[in-house]
Amino acid sequence: MDKKLVCPCGLTCCDCLFYKSEIYETAHKLKQLIKDHELDKFLNIFSKNWRAMGDLLDMSEDQLSDAIGKKFEVFNQMPVFMNVLDSIVKLQCKTTCQEVSGCSIGGNTHQCKALNCIKSKNYDGCWQCSDFENCDNLRFLKNGYGYVIEDNLKTIKEKGFEAVKSRGNKYYAWQRKNNGRVNELSS
Ligand code: SF4
Ligand code: SF4
Repeated sequence: MDKKLVCPCGLTCCDCLFYKSEIYETAHKLKQLIKDHELDKFLNIFSKNWRAMGDLLDMSEDQLSDAIGKKFEVFNQMPVFMNVLDSIVKLQCKTTCQEVSGCSIGGNTHQCKALNCIKSKNYDGCWQCSDFENCDNLRFLKNGYGYVIEDNLKTIKEKGFEAVKSRGNKYYAWQRKNNGRVNELSS
């Protein structure tokens, strides 16, 4: 793997959900299309006024409710949906820890305890440290990512960055919980 994509703590940016540009670009495009066409306003208004269709369609109140109302009532939540869409767009991390020294989520770059520790020791990463198997600074990451952190650090130490592999959508411990590694989250 390219060194740029390997964080000093052993995370891999290419697998990080904040780095999946396609998700954020698609969310941005969807938001823009909805706004350009004012679909959000239209659906919100329609969700509250679908009964007016009764004059147009020759249906009973119950038929109208089944055919139109139940499908459109959910759109009274369009303002919430647009807000969520906007918040998703803003989450994107457009860079990597190697490039800017920290994780950049939601427009801010955060330096974690591990990164501060690595810097204080003048290391490039935890793979240079004899404590990485028992380090408290990595505990939060090990809870979230399971064996991946230690595995990556060992791989880098023994074989270099090139040997680190992407885990695809089996990166986080919770993504693997149906894959024989159920206990990782609590370990
Ligand atoms: S630097 Fe960005 S992409 Fe890399 S792990 Fe942190 S948040 Fe994810
Ligand atoms: S003590 Fe070692 S393993 Fe822990 S964060 Fe610092 S450099 Fe990394």
